[in-house]
Amino acid sequence: MELKVKDITSFLEGIAPLGSQESYDNSGLIVGNHDMVVTEVLLSLDCIEDTVEEAIKIGANLIIAHHPIVFSGLKQLNGKNYVERTVIKAIKHDIAIYAIHTNLDNYKLGVNYEIAQRIGISNPQILAPKKNTLKKLVVFCPESHSEKVIQAIFEAGGGNIGEYTKCSFESSGTGAFLPSEKANPTLGKVGTREKADEKRIEVLIPIHKESQIIKAMKMAHPYEEVAHDIYPISNANQDEGAGMIGELDKAMEVKAFLAHLKSTFNCGVIRHTELVRKEIKTVAFCGGSGSFLLNNAKSHQADIYITGDFKYHEFFDAEKAIIIADIGHFESEQYTPHLILGILKKNFINFAFHLSKVNTNPINYF
Ligand SMILES: [Zn+2]
Repeated sequence: MELKVKDITSFLEGIAPLGSQESYDNSGLIVGNHDMVVTEVLLSLDCIEDTVEEAIKIGANLIIAHHPIVFSGLKQLNGKNYVERTVIKAIKHDIAIYAIHTNLDNYKLGVNYEIAQRIGISNPQILAPKKNTLKKLVVFCPESHSEKVIQAIFEAGGGNIGEYTKCSFESSGTGAFLPSEKANPTLGKVGTREKADEKRIEVLIPIHKESQIIKAMKMAHPYEEVAHDIYPISNANQDEGAGMIGELDKAMEVKAFLAHLKSTFNCGVIRHTELVRKEIKTVAFCGGSGSFLLNNAKSHQADIYITGDFKYHEFFDAEKAIIIADIGHFESEQYTPHLILGILKKNFINFAFHLSKVNTNPINYF
Protein backbone atom coordinates (compact mmCIF):
# COMPACT_ATOMS: atom_id res chain seq x y z
CA MET A 1 0.00 0.00 0.00
CA GLU A 2 1.32 3.43 -0.95
CA LEU A 3 1.23 5.91 1.91
CA LYS A 4 1.61 9.67 1.58
CA VAL A 5 2.87 12.01 4.27
CA LYS A 6 -0.63 13.44 4.63
CA ASP A 7 -2.14 9.99 5.24
CA ILE A 8 -0.01 9.65 8.34
CA THR A 9 -0.18 13.25 9.54
CA SER A 10 -3.95 13.57 9.10
CA PHE A 11 -4.41 10.36 11.08
CA LEU A 12 -2.24 11.78 13.89
CA GLU A 13 -4.10 15.08 13.75
CA GLY A 14 -7.41 13.26 14.15
CA ILE A 15 -6.07 12.18 17.54
CA ALA A 16 -3.98 15.21 18.51
CA PRO A 17 -5.31 18.11 16.39
CA LEU A 18 -2.95 20.95 15.55
CA GLY A 19 -5.55 23.29 17.07
CA SER A 20 -4.79 21.76 20.50
CA GLN A 21 -1.19 22.98 20.49
CA GLU A 22 -0.09 25.90 22.66
CA SER A 23 0.31 29.34 21.09
CA TYR A 24 4.14 29.29 21.28
CA ASP A 25 4.38 25.89 19.61
CA ASN A 26 5.15 24.91 16.00
CA SER A 27 3.67 21.43 15.61
CA GLY A 28 2.82 20.18 12.13
CA LEU A 29 4.73 19.52 8.92
CA ILE A 30 7.88 21.64 9.28
CA VAL A 31 9.83 20.36 6.26
CA GLY A 32 8.52 18.47 3.25
CA ASN A 33 5.52 17.90 1.05
CA HIS A 34 2.16 16.55 2.15
CA ASP A 35 1.85 14.51 -1.06
CA MET A 36 5.23 12.79 -0.89
CA VAL A 37 5.06 9.00 -0.83
CA VAL A 38 6.55 7.71 2.43
CA THR A 39 9.19 4.99 2.30
CA GLU A 40 9.76 4.37 6.00
CA VAL A 41 9.21 6.46 9.13
CA LEU A 42 11.67 7.34 11.87
CA LEU A 43 10.30 8.31 15.31
CA SER A 44 12.34 10.41 17.72
CA LEU A 45 12.02 12.82 20.63
CA ASP A 46 14.14 15.50 18.93
CA CYS A 47 15.07 15.91 15.31
CA ILE A 48 18.69 17.03 15.05
CA GLU A 49 21.33 16.50 12.34
CA ASP A 50 22.19 13.04 13.69
CA THR A 51 18.53 12.07 13.44
CA VAL A 52 18.37 13.11 9.78
CA GLU A 53 21.59 11.17 9.23
CA GLU A 54 19.99 8.11 10.80
CA ALA A 55 16.92 8.51 8.54
CA ILE A 56 19.20 8.61 5.47
CA LYS A 57 20.97 5.44 6.61
CA ILE A 58 17.82 3.40 7.15
CA GLY A 59 16.01 4.78 4.10
CA ALA A 60 13.28 6.67 5.97
CA ASN A 61 11.95 9.85 4.36
CA LEU A 62 9.62 10.98 7.16
CA ILE A 63 10.82 11.87 10.65
CA ILE A 64 8.13 12.28 13.28
CA ALA A 65 9.57 14.08 16.30
CA HIS A 66 7.98 15.32 19.51
CA HIS A 67 9.96 18.59 19.68
CA PRO A 68 9.77 20.89 16.64
CA ILE A 69 13.22 21.60 15.21
CA VAL A 70 11.99 25.08 14.20
CA PHE A 71 10.19 27.14 16.85
CA SER A 72 10.53 30.68 15.58
CA GLY A 73 10.99 32.01 12.05
CA LEU A 74 14.18 31.25 10.12
CA LYS A 75 15.40 34.34 8.31
CA GLN A 76 18.40 32.73 6.67
CA LEU A 77 19.31 29.17 5.78
CA ASN A 78 23.09 29.11 5.56
CA GLY A 79 23.89 26.41 8.09
CA LYS A 80 25.29 28.61 10.86
CA ASN A 81 23.53 26.67 13.62
CA TYR A 82 22.19 23.15 14.22
CA VAL A 83 18.60 24.15 13.42
CA GLU A 84 19.51 25.47 9.97
CA ARG A 85 21.86 22.56 9.28
CA THR A 86 19.17 20.04 10.23
CA VAL A 87 16.60 21.66 7.93
CA ILE A 88 19.09 21.98 5.05
CA LYS A 89 20.13 18.33 5.38
CA ALA A 90 16.51 17.18 5.42
CA ILE A 91 15.61 19.22 2.32
CA LYS A 92 18.71 18.05 0.44
CA HIS A 93 17.74 14.42 1.06
CA ASP A 94 13.98 14.80 0.47
CA ILE A 95 13.20 13.99 4.07
CA ALA A 96 10.06 15.38 5.66
CA ILE A 97 10.05 16.49 9.31
CA TYR A 98 6.82 16.49 11.26
CA ALA A 99 6.42 17.59 14.89
CA ILE A 100 3.68 16.48 17.27
CA HIS A 101 4.43 18.46 20.40
CA THR A 102 2.05 20.25 22.80
CA ASN A 103 -0.96 18.82 20.96
CA LEU A 104 0.32 15.40 22.06
CA ASP A 105 1.01 16.76 25.58
CA ASN A 106 -2.59 17.96 25.82
CA TYR A 107 -4.11 14.70 24.52
CA LYS A 108 -5.52 12.60 27.35
CA LEU A 109 -3.84 9.41 26.09
CA GLY A 110 -0.69 11.30 25.13
CA VAL A 111 2.74 12.05 26.61
CA ASN A 112 1.58 12.07 30.22
CA TYR A 113 -0.57 8.98 29.86
CA GLU A 114 2.54 7.16 28.65
CA ILE A 115 4.41 8.42 31.74
CA ALA A 116 1.53 7.20 33.94
CA GLN A 117 1.84 3.71 32.47
CA ARG A 118 5.58 3.70 33.15
CA ILE A 119 5.16 4.89 36.75
CA GLY A 120 2.33 2.44 37.40
CA ILE A 121 -0.72 4.68 37.66
CA SER A 122 -3.71 3.02 36.09
CA ASN A 123 -6.38 5.75 36.04
CA PRO A 124 -4.73 9.15 35.64
CA GLN A 125 -6.75 12.35 35.21
CA ILE A 126 -5.67 15.57 33.52
CA LEU A 127 -4.08 17.92 36.07
CA ALA A 128 -4.98 21.21 34.36
CA PRO A 129 -7.98 20.66 32.06
CA LYS A 130 -8.15 23.22 29.26
CA LYS A 131 -10.88 25.83 29.01
CA ASN A 132 -12.45 27.24 25.85
CA THR A 133 -12.09 24.01 23.91
CA LEU A 134 -15.76 23.01 23.96
CA LYS A 135 -19.01 24.39 22.54
CA LYS A 136 -22.66 23.52 22.99
CA LEU A 137 -24.50 22.61 19.81
CA VAL A 138 -28.30 22.92 19.83
CA VAL A 139 -30.23 21.72 16.78
CA PHE A 140 -33.96 21.60 16.11
CA CYS A 141 -35.14 18.57 14.16
CA PRO A 142 -38.42 16.83 13.30
CA GLU A 143 -38.93 13.88 15.65
CA SER A 144 -38.79 11.40 12.78
CA HIS A 145 -35.14 12.30 12.08
CA SER A 146 -33.83 13.16 15.54
CA GLU A 147 -32.06 9.83 16.12
CA LYS A 148 -30.37 9.97 12.72
CA VAL A 149 -29.11 13.51 13.39
CA ILE A 150 -27.86 12.62 16.89
CA GLN A 151 -25.97 9.58 15.59
CA ALA A 152 -24.38 11.68 12.83
CA ILE A 153 -23.17 14.19 15.44
CA PHE A 154 -21.72 11.37 17.57
CA GLU A 155 -19.96 9.77 14.61
CA ALA A 156 -18.37 13.10 13.69
CA GLY A 157 -16.92 13.45 17.21
CA GLY A 158 -19.57 15.11 19.41
CA GLY A 159 -21.13 13.99 22.69
CA ASN A 160 -18.11 12.89 24.74
CA ILE A 161 -17.86 13.73 28.46
CA GLY A 162 -14.99 12.01 30.31
CA GLU A 163 -15.57 8.25 30.29
CA TYR A 164 -19.04 8.69 28.74
CA THR A 165 -19.70 8.77 25.02
CA LYS A 166 -22.88 9.46 23.02
CA CYS A 167 -24.12 12.04 25.56
CA SER A 168 -27.06 14.21 24.46
CA PHE A 169 -30.18 15.86 25.79
CA GLU A 170 -33.50 16.01 23.95
CA SER A 171 -36.69 17.94 24.65
CA SER A 172 -39.86 18.17 22.61
CA GLY A 173 -41.58 21.28 21.32
CA THR A 174 -43.18 22.94 18.34
CA GLY A 175 -41.13 24.49 15.56
CA ALA A 176 -42.69 26.97 13.15
CA PHE A 177 -41.59 28.48 9.83
CA LEU A 178 -42.90 30.32 6.79
CA PRO A 179 -41.27 29.21 3.50
CA SER A 180 -40.64 31.93 0.89
CA GLU A 181 -41.41 31.44 -2.83
CA LYS A 182 -37.83 30.40 -3.47
CA ALA A 183 -37.81 27.83 -0.69
CA ASN A 184 -38.13 24.09 -1.22
CA PRO A 185 -39.62 22.95 2.11
CA THR A 186 -39.57 19.33 3.24
CA LEU A 187 -42.71 20.01 5.28
CA GLY A 188 -45.55 22.49 4.61
CA LYS A 189 -46.30 24.82 1.71
CA VAL A 190 -44.79 27.98 0.30
CA GLY A 191 -46.56 31.05 1.76
CA THR A 192 -48.15 29.19 4.69
CA ARG A 193 -46.74 29.24 8.21
CA GLU A 194 -46.15 25.61 9.11
CA LYS A 195 -45.96 24.12 12.62
CA ALA A 196 -44.14 20.84 13.27
CA ASP A 197 -43.39 18.56 16.23
CA GLU A 198 -39.66 18.88 16.72
CA LYS A 199 -36.92 17.84 19.09
CA ARG A 200 -34.41 20.24 20.56
CA ILE A 201 -31.15 18.29 20.65
CA GLU A 202 -28.21 19.47 22.77
CA VAL A 203 -24.72 18.02 22.47
CA LEU A 204 -21.27 19.06 23.71
CA ILE A 205 -18.76 19.33 20.85
CA PRO A 206 -14.97 19.94 20.77
CA ILE A 207 -14.07 23.15 18.95
CA HIS A 208 -11.54 21.45 16.68
CA LYS A 209 -14.25 19.15 15.28
CA GLU A 210 -16.90 21.85 14.91
CA SER A 211 -16.90 22.12 11.12
CA GLN A 212 -17.01 18.35 10.51
CA ILE A 213 -19.80 17.94 13.08
CA ILE A 214 -21.91 20.73 11.56
CA LYS A 215 -21.40 19.23 8.11
CA ALA A 216 -22.47 15.74 9.31
CA MET A 217 -25.45 17.21 11.18
CA LYS A 218 -26.67 19.02 8.05
CA MET A 219 -26.24 15.91 5.90
CA ALA A 220 -28.43 13.88 8.26
CA HIS A 221 -31.07 16.58 8.74
CA PRO A 222 -34.11 16.55 6.42
CA TYR A 223 -34.67 20.32 6.27
CA GLU A 224 -33.33 22.70 3.60
CA GLU A 225 -32.37 25.18 6.34
CA VAL A 226 -31.17 23.59 9.56
CA ALA A 227 -32.05 25.73 12.60
CA HIS A 228 -29.16 25.38 15.02
CA ASP A 229 -27.23 27.39 17.60
CA ILE A 230 -23.60 27.09 18.65
CA TYR A 231 -22.79 28.45 22.10
CA PRO A 232 -19.35 29.10 23.54
CA ILE A 233 -19.11 27.58 27.03
CA SER A 234 -16.51 28.04 29.73
CA ASN A 235 -16.50 24.48 31.11
CA ALA A 236 -13.04 22.95 31.47
CA ASN A 237 -12.45 20.03 29.11
CA GLN A 238 -11.42 17.03 31.22
CA ASP A 239 -10.26 15.24 28.06
CA GLU A 240 -7.65 17.84 27.13
CA GLY A 241 -4.98 19.69 29.07
CA ALA A 242 -1.58 19.72 30.72
CA GLY A 243 -0.07 17.28 33.20
CA MET A 244 -1.78 14.38 34.93
CA ILE A 245 -2.49 13.14 38.43
CA GLY A 246 -3.34 9.72 39.78
CA GLU A 247 -2.77 7.23 42.55
CA LEU A 248 -0.44 4.30 42.87
CA ASP A 249 -2.29 1.05 43.48
CA LYS A 250 -0.34 0.72 46.69
CA ALA A 251 1.51 3.49 48.58
CA MET A 252 5.30 3.24 48.33
CA GLU A 253 7.95 4.28 50.81
CA VAL A 254 9.34 7.56 49.52
CA LYS A 255 12.92 6.46 48.82
CA ALA A 256 11.73 3.24 47.22
CA PHE A 257 9.52 5.34 44.97
CA LEU A 258 12.43 7.62 43.99
CA ALA A 259 14.52 4.53 43.20
CA HIS A 260 11.64 3.23 41.07
CA LEU A 261 11.55 6.57 39.19
CA LYS A 262 15.32 6.58 38.73
CA SER A 263 15.41 3.12 37.19
CA THR A 264 12.21 3.53 35.12
CA PHE A 265 13.42 6.75 33.51
CA ASN A 266 17.17 5.91 33.49
CA CYS A 267 17.92 9.13 35.36
CA GLY A 268 21.52 10.19 35.87
CA VAL A 269 20.22 12.06 38.88
CA ILE A 270 16.92 13.13 40.43
CA ARG A 271 16.91 16.65 41.87
CA HIS A 272 14.29 16.82 44.61
CA THR A 273 13.11 18.95 47.50
CA GLU A 274 12.95 17.84 51.14
CA LEU A 275 11.27 14.44 51.53
CA VAL A 276 8.27 15.75 53.48
CA ARG A 277 6.26 12.53 52.99
CA LYS A 278 7.13 9.08 54.33
CA GLU A 279 5.00 7.40 51.68
CA ILE A 280 3.92 8.26 48.14
CA LYS A 281 0.39 7.52 46.99
CA THR A 282 -0.90 10.50 44.94
CA VAL A 283 1.43 11.39 42.09
CA ALA A 284 1.25 14.42 39.80
CA PHE A 285 3.48 14.62 36.75
CA CYS A 286 4.12 16.46 33.51
CA GLY A 287 6.58 15.46 30.81
CA GLY A 288 9.08 18.15 29.78
CA SER A 289 9.23 21.58 31.43
CA GLY A 290 6.38 21.41 33.90
CA SER A 291 7.17 23.85 36.71
CA PHE A 292 4.13 25.93 35.69
CA LEU A 293 1.85 23.19 37.07
CA LEU A 294 3.29 23.06 40.60
CA ASN A 295 0.35 24.95 42.12
CA ASN A 296 -2.12 22.59 40.40
CA ALA A 297 -0.25 19.63 41.89
CA LYS A 298 -0.26 21.28 45.33
CA SER A 299 -3.94 22.17 45.24
CA HIS A 300 -4.77 18.55 44.36
CA GLN A 301 -2.71 17.50 47.39
CA ALA A 302 -0.33 15.32 45.43
CA ASP A 303 2.46 13.79 47.51
CA ILE A 304 5.00 14.35 44.76
CA TYR A 305 5.24 16.35 41.54
CA ILE A 306 7.45 14.84 38.84
CA THR A 307 8.65 16.84 35.85
CA GLY A 308 11.78 18.40 34.33
CA ASP A 309 13.50 21.78 34.08
CA PHE A 310 12.81 23.14 37.57
CA LYS A 311 14.94 26.20 38.37
CA TYR A 312 16.69 26.83 41.69
CA HIS A 313 14.17 29.41 42.98
CA GLU A 314 11.21 27.34 41.83
CA PHE A 315 12.23 24.50 44.16
CA PHE A 316 11.48 26.80 47.14
CA ASP A 317 7.83 26.88 46.05
CA ALA A 318 7.37 23.31 47.33
CA GLU A 319 7.07 24.91 50.80
CA LYS A 320 7.01 21.54 52.56
CA ALA A 321 3.57 20.87 51.07
CA ILE A 322 4.79 18.55 48.31
CA ILE A 323 7.95 16.88 47.07
CA ILE A 324 9.25 18.22 43.75
CA ALA A 325 11.18 15.61 41.77
CA ASP A 326 12.99 16.90 38.67
CA ILE A 327 13.90 13.79 36.70
CA GLY A 328 15.12 15.69 33.61
CA HIS A 329 13.34 16.94 30.50
CA PHE A 330 14.69 14.27 28.15
CA GLU A 331 14.26 11.50 30.73
CA SER A 332 10.62 12.37 31.37
CA GLU A 333 9.71 12.36 27.67
CA GLN A 334 12.01 9.63 26.35
CA TYR A 335 9.12 7.19 25.85
CA THR A 336 7.13 9.58 23.65
CA PRO A 337 8.42 7.96 20.41
CA HIS A 338 7.17 4.60 21.79
CA LEU A 339 3.79 6.22 22.41
CA ILE A 340 3.64 7.56 18.82
CA LEU A 341 4.69 4.14 17.55
CA GLY A 342 1.83 2.50 19.45
CA ILE A 343 -0.68 4.99 18.03
CA LEU A 344 0.55 4.53 14.45
CA LYS A 345 0.83 0.74 14.59
CA LYS A 346 -2.85 0.40 15.43
CA ASN A 347 -3.80 2.06 12.17
CA PHE A 348 -0.93 1.32 9.77
CA ILE A 349 -0.43 -2.34 10.52
CA ASN A 350 2.05 -3.43 7.86
CA PHE A 351 4.13 -0.29 7.61
CA ALA A 352 7.75 0.14 8.71
CA PHE A 353 8.18 2.50 11.67
CA HIS A 354 11.54 2.76 13.42
CA LEU A 355 12.39 4.10 16.85
CA SER A 356 15.45 6.32 16.64
CA LYS A 357 18.60 4.95 18.22
CA VAL A 358 20.22 8.38 18.47
CA ASN A 359 20.45 9.70 22.03
CA THR A 360 19.50 13.36 21.59
CA ASN A 361 19.80 14.31 25.27
CA PRO A 362 22.14 17.34 25.25
CA ILE A 363 22.70 16.98 29.01
CA ASN A 364 25.32 14.64 30.50
CA TYR A 365 25.86 13.82 34.17
CA PHE A 366 29.42 13.68 35.45
ZN1 LIG B 1 9.72 18.37 25.84
